[in-house]
Amino acid sequence: MDSAQNHKLPSPIHIVTSSTCAEFTHLLQSLRQSTVVGLDAEWKPRRSSQPDSSPFPPVTLLQIACQFQAEKSDEGPKSEVFLVDLLWVPLGDVYQPIKEMFESESIIKLGFRFKQDLVFLSHTFSSQGCEPGFDLVAPFLDITNIYFRLKNQNSAKRCSKDTKSLATVCEELLGISLSKELQCSDWSSRPLSEEQIQYAAADAFYLLEIFSIFQQNIVNEGECVASVSEGDDDHCRMMQSILRDFGDKIVLKESDKVPKNTKKKVKQRKCINGNKKENVEVSTEWQGPAPWELSVGGDGFPKFLCDVMIEGLAKHLRCVGIDAALPSSKKPDPRELLNQAYKEKRVLLTRDIKLLRYQYLAENQVYKVKSLLKNDQLVEVIETFKLSISEDQLMSRCTKCNGSFIQKPLTIEEAVEASKGFQVIPSCLFDKNLEFWKCTTCYQLYWEGTQYRHAVDKFVAICKLKD
Ligand SMILES: [Zn+2]
Repeated sequence: MDSAQNHKLPSPIHIVTSSTCAEFTHLLQSLRQSTVVGLDAEWKPRRSSQPDSSPFPPVTLLQIACQFQAEKSDEGPKSEVFLVDLLWVPLGDVYQPIKEMFESESIIKLGFRFKQDLVFLSHTFSSQGCEPGFDLVAPFLDITNIYFRLKNQNSAKRCSKDTKSLATVCEELLGISLSKELQCSDWSSRPLSEEQIQYAAADAFYLLEIFSIFQQNIVNEGECVASVSEGDDDHCRMMQSILRDFGDKIVLKESDKVPKNTKKKVKQRKCINGNKKENVEVSTEWQGPAPWELSVGGDGFPKFLCDVMIEGLAKHLRCVGIDAALPSSKKPDPRELLNQAYKEKRVLLTRDIKLLRYQYLAENQVYKVKSLLKNDQLVEVIETFKLSISEDQLMSRCTKCNGSFIQKPLTIEEAVEASKGFQVIPSCLFDKNLEFWKCTTCYQLYWEGTQYRHAVDKFVAICKLKD
């Protein structure tokens, strides 16, 4: 239908991190000129299995894509994308401009099922003293309605309304495939990654692009006399005609601002894309801070306890230098496991969903591993917990018992002496001038032979340390 190259994100993407920065002034200026804005918001995904967590996650990012007429009227509309970092900008400073934009009759607001975002956004602001939050967005156009309008005008049959994600809509109307992985990424960690910035900006900007197609379509249909780029008056008339026929508004009632038992649904609105696998991930999303973090009284070193089902993952973690304990018994009682995790400030890694339901373990102390294969599991854990792995960490821990190594390597003579009675050192190593390392806990000896080098290469590849 259309091609991706035609829908390039405006550059640069303006990130508003304070109310004194130039980007903030720029945002206010753009809002004053805008006739259409695309809106989206991001928050940190929560685990729906945690009944006691707040039903309103704090919104951490508000994306505003502004469209306005260029100063020279023959240039057509201009777009700018702003990411308002709600973790950094004092909310009191952006509350009024956002509220005014939401309620301004001269700005059409575009969103994709934006009501949920508004509920969370409103709660985020009102809980910080910006009363009464937000309760009106008007005039508003839901992109879903525009999509169905565009899709259905040539066919009498209406397609099902509840199966379209923004990704599907963008793909069909703009020929763009939005990345789905980032939807559930941690929107509360800073700095945002370049991918997160692009993704967040795209979500708001493509709303403008879809709206442009819609406008052009209306012009072509002759429902309106003006074209998109013609004079101000004509443009104004077209907007009015669109609003008359398609305009809507979002009004939050008091009952919308009260927590409902719909957390699961809420999460899914952000996280499903017709993909079953992602559904499972939704309910098991990691909640930080990890128990080893300094801010919660830990020592700063990641520590895990692997359930018996994922013993292989424990060994892999040890190979990359991460402290990964195993339960002391082969068939541990869940309570034993949870106690050990709690006492030693470890995160329990498990594939057993039942363990997630134990209420007395803090939500940041258990994580359900989704991947099946241990290499994938390792990558999953590294990514989820943002572990930094360096090459000199590889093979720095006893894979047998999770113990650490002695400070100084042993010579062959010392190693032979140390191995007496429980470990045989192959005689072929004797003339190789190798260094030996001893586990301080189980006294197992390791040396940097062929096996060691293969293992290092393997983990360098898995952890992509060479990129
Ligand atoms: Zn050991």
